[in-house]
Amino acid sequence: MFISELEVANYRNYGRSRIRLDRGINLVVGDNAQGKSNLLEAIYLLSTLRSSRASSDADLVRRDILHTEFPVARLATHVERSAGNLMLEVAIVGRTTDASHRAGKRVRVNGVPRRASEAVGQLAAVLFTTLDIDIAAGPPLLRRRYLDMMISQVDRGYLRAMQKYARVLQQRNSLLKRVQARDASASELNFWDQELAHSGGIIMQARADALGHLVPQAQFHMDRLSDGLETLGMTYRPAVGGLDEHDCPIDETEWTARMLRALGGLRTREIHAGATLIGPHRDDVIVEINELPADFGSRAQQRTAALSMRIAEASYLRRALGDDPVVLLDDVLSELDARRRRGVMEFFDTFQQTIVTTAEPDRVRDVMTRAAGRFVVAAGTVTRFEGE
Ligand code: ATP
Ligand code: MG
Repeated sequence: MFISELEVANYRNYGRSRIRLDRGINLVVGDNAQGKSNLLEAIYLLSTLRSSRASSDADLVRRDILHTEFPVARLATHVERSAGNLMLEVAIVGRTTDASHRAGKRVRVNGVPRRASEAVGQLAAVLFTTLDIDIAAGPPLLRRRYLDMMISQVDRGYLRAMQKYARVLQQRNSLLKRVQARDASASELNFWDQELAHSGGIIMQARADALGHLVPQAQFHMDRLSDGLETLGMTYRPAVGGLDEHDCPIDETEWTARMLRALGGLRTREIHAGATLIGPHRDDVIVEINELPADFGSRAQQRTAALSMRIAEASYLRRALGDDPVVLLDDVLSELDARRRRGVMEFFDTFQQTIVTTAEPDRVRDVMTRAAGRFVVAAGTVTRFEGE
């Protein structure tokens, strides 16, 4: 799929911009703090309905209208897909003084109002940023998010299970605290154990499945990008209790049963801790570079590992959708050497659309000459330019 048109209004530092994008490579050039990352964040938000970096919706609305009566940021896009063309609109309502306006996101898909969860993945996208280096060597949360953002774009059931799991987890944790304080009886936990293990089973099964495709892909690209010098290991480490890696359950029901058994065995400890100690909220994926934990690796090795993981993500989405996701590369190319850059672009040349940002066009001349569309962003306004 590819984006043919994008409209951004009152989003971050954007006033109002309407951009026609091309198939192939689109290069967006701009000095620091002009709005390059904001632009890609906006596209990624249209895809996942979540910001890749903001903590609240209000952060996304342009500061100088935040205190007006109706502070709304608006994003709209036309996407050409093999599954039928798409018109996607998102309005983000910031803070409101008037109780009749609800803060949050409103979404329309082809003109029809939809819940955000129904719109996730209508536009499929994969985002690479300079912070990605941490998905290989940083905290487990980043690898869980890596899996979640990817799988929920193609699997509605996964997204529902995630939402349910989060609700159940919260209620179970507060019940554990009440049991600890002797405000509730431990038998009340039985129901919540079932609920938690049920959605937990769906999540863990989907993560294991996704990794089945991701791991060989990521390994293949790690080998290619490093000219055969580096190997990548990625192993699912589900937090399900008493499980070793050679012994992964084969279906949801088994995951659920395993989790229920573990919860049963942990009950006393959990009451003491006032928290749920196992489950997909504590999962990890162990990443190894040349058979050592990724945090032993050099920055360049970690970066290549992270790139390989993102490339594997793009390949996963393509296979699951039968269509190409839009590829968003935020400032990552200029930090690679020419060989690795070529290796990355060779792969994305086979995708319908790639949007690349850079503050240093001189460092990505090779990309510049091959770009179908060239844009410059300054103070939140995007304009197309011809020539070099
Ligand atoms: P760099 O090259 O440093 O990565 P960039 O072009 O990617 O820069 P962005 O991260 O897109 O820059 O940010 C551009 C500007 O947007 C920043 O100066 C930031 O302060 C501003 N900004 C962020 N959120 C808002 C907001 N809600 N309202 C107004 N301005 C905002
Ligand atoms: Mg940036």
